[in-house]
Amino acid sequence: MTTAIAVNGAAGRMGRTVIETAAERDDVEVVVGFHASDAGEIGGVPVVGADEVPEALAEHDPDVVVDFSLPEAALGIVDACVEVDVGLVVGTTGFDDDGFDALEAASDEIPVLKATNFSRGIQVLLRTVTEAVGALDGYDLELMETHHNDKVDAPSGTANTILETVQDERDVEPVYGREGHAPREDDEIGVFARRAGDVRGEHELVLAGNDEVVSLSHRAEDRAVFAAGALDAAVWLADRGDGWHEFDEVIDAE
Ligand code: NAD
Repeated sequence: MTTAIAVNGAAGRMGRTVIETAAERDDVEVVVGFHASDAGEIGGVPVVGADEVPEALAEHDPDVVVDFSLPEAALGIVDACVEVDVGLVVGTTGFDDDGFDALEAASDEIPVLKATNFSRGIQVLLRTVTEAVGALDGYDLELMETHHNDKVDAPSGTANTILETVQDERDVEPVYGREGHAPREDDEIGVFARRAGDVRGEHELVLAGNDEVVSLSHRAEDRAVFAAGALDAAVWLADRGDGWHEFDEVIDAE
């Protein structure tokens, strides 16, 4: 069976990569894309403007919408998705608390799956972070990420997810882009964001203590890794009912 997909943010870096990646698979078909304004066709897919989303959803009848756009653009399609009862895979990062609450509220009516990172390697890294922070009590913690120079949010959504995973294990406060030379406190974790070139996404958690340094790192080499994971999530979500879902449910189901 083929899962019909609509892509929000279709003309962006990730949206284009989702369309390209889907074209190489036979379990998904991108039937329509949404952009801020009408963008013609991308990879053979019609891409309509944000004001045409309700009509386009009714006309193309996707099983799932995959969103890689901006927080306000993602939130802008939620009502239309609820209206036609279509599931939503959210890859966009940088939501504030209100935006996050709005997505959670939508999950009372449609299936919603949100992940700050759709690579399988990051999901494994998160599990390893839990184990390492739990086992290496008292080690200093420092978190670094690097992304391309157009990224609008900092630190990255993935860095925030790694931070939350650390905080589930240990009570540490983030210190962002530490300035000056104040001695490091035991209950802090330094968080650093770098923006350079077209880096797809690099994350590293360093744990240092007891005359040793452990470095847990991940580097995405191509945006296709995120697109593939988001499409896998969309195929999985097409068979789900209303509710909030996480990417590790998709991986665990395999
Ligand atoms: P991008 O800036 O290249 O693309 C975003 C696109 O959304 C732009 O083309 C923009 O014009 C478009 N847009 C603006 N308003 C819109 C509207 N109302 N409707 C539809 N589209 C609209 O950014 P990107 O690199 O493609 O990343 C997009 C988002 O995905 C970011 O939040 C990024 O952090 C996130 N991201 C997530 C993952 C993941 O695995 N979850 C991976 C990569 C990127």
